[in-house]
Amino acid sequence: MTEATIFPQLEIPDTMAAGPGPGHTDPRILKRFAGAGMADHMQADVLRGMIECKLMLRTVMGTQNVHTFGVAGTGWSGLDCLFSAVMPGDKVVVFVNGTFSGIDGLTLRMKAATAEELAASPMDPQPASVTIMTVPHGQSVTVEIVEAALAEHKPKWAAMAHWETGSGRINDLRGFSDACVSHGVIGLVDAVSSLGVEDFRIDDFPGVHGWASCPQKGICCLPLTYAPVSFTDRYIANLRHTGCRTFVHHPILEARHWGIVDGKDVEKGIYHRTHSAYAVAAFHEALRITLQQTVAGRAKSYAFHEAALRDAVTAMGCKVTSNMTSLVVLNLPDRLAGREMELVQACRASGFGIWPTLSEPVQVRIGILNLLNQNAIGDIVNRFGTALNRMGAEIDMERINDRLEKHYQTMIAAE
Ligand SMILES: *Cc1c(COP(=O)(O)O)cnc(C)c1O
Repeated sequence: MTEATIFPQLEIPDTMAAGPGPGHTDPRILKRFAGAGMADHMQADVLRGMIECKLMLRTVMGTQNVHTFGVAGTGWSGLDCLFSAVMPGDKVVVFVNGTFSGIDGLTLRMKAATAEELAASPMDPQPASVTIMTVPHGQSVTVEIVEAALAEHKPKWAAMAHWETGSGRINDLRGFSDACVSHGVIGLVDAVSSLGVEDFRIDDFPGVHGWASCPQKGICCLPLTYAPVSFTDRYIANLRHTGCRTFVHHPILEARHWGIVDGKDVEKGIYHRTHSAYAVAAFHEALRITLQQTVAGRAKSYAFHEAALRDAVTAMGCKVTSNMTSLVVLNLPDRLAGREMELVQACRASGFGIWPTLSEPVQVRIGILNLLNQNAIGDIVNRFGTALNRMGAEIDMERINDRLEKHYQTMIAAE
């Protein structure tokens, strides 16, 4: 018999998570996570916590949709639930302008593929009923693109990422919603990167009937908790009619544990699957923090600090091509072009967690999720500038720091 290897306890260092996500979890959330008692998923306070989460989530998302709740896991868990109503042979148009909407497209191709189409290419099916509208990296999905595609293809479903984190681009949600309304299409939106970062209310977009987000970006709640989802009555009515092929991510069945039964709020959830008291307590605190800071307040703070970071990296000779406020996506100064991966790896090795783009062209992504203060932005700017200088960029960091300080003084004075 060979002896089992028991490895030493796993130590994970605290890094500066300055990427597209996950963002820094608030210490208050970690405290609730570790402080929750051992209680099963039908214990009264766990069930009450889930109901309170559901109610707070409706405010955070700006909705009266009864079917608003959390799906255990990350963004893809919520998106899997969101796309679950799409059945083989359904006509779908998906707008793709980067890595994440690309995976949304793959998910939808898997769901809409017939058995034959799936068997023909199991990992990358190409169903005849799905149209992928590809928008070049670095550009946004516009109302013109959506309008033309829906008019031409007349699908049952249309899907788009609100904020495409791969290229750092904001897509035209208003245009998407309007086009869905005018063509009678059921809109589905990946709001993984925008919820808790931008100030928007989902009920203001009547063409969108299903939404999915994640815990660890704008909601700042990594300790594997809940991906927020919300569905309109129309989505649910459609699902009641067609059914769908999942138990765990079934939007109607999964909602039961959150006290949503037969389209109504009930006092007490019904078992669907085991829920973690730790996760419920953490998610509850994350929503409380979001409401205390307000979505509008957070959105303002993101815009404020992103502008400072954008100005500093531009002054270093980088070219920013993104327009999200939680992330800058940039090209390096010309003399360092082509060395993006080397730079990112050097930064990551020193505990400064920035990212490359995951699809071509290779760019650098620096995020500020839950890093909304001048010290944190100053730290990011200095780590980034130092790394560039190690590669021979010869940036005068004193000048950059002066500029950053002035930027903050001016912005604060303008408040
Ligand atoms: C991060 C992200 C995802 C994936 O979410 P996970 O939490 O990694 O599962 C999907 N869509 C968008 C737009 C994202 O930013």
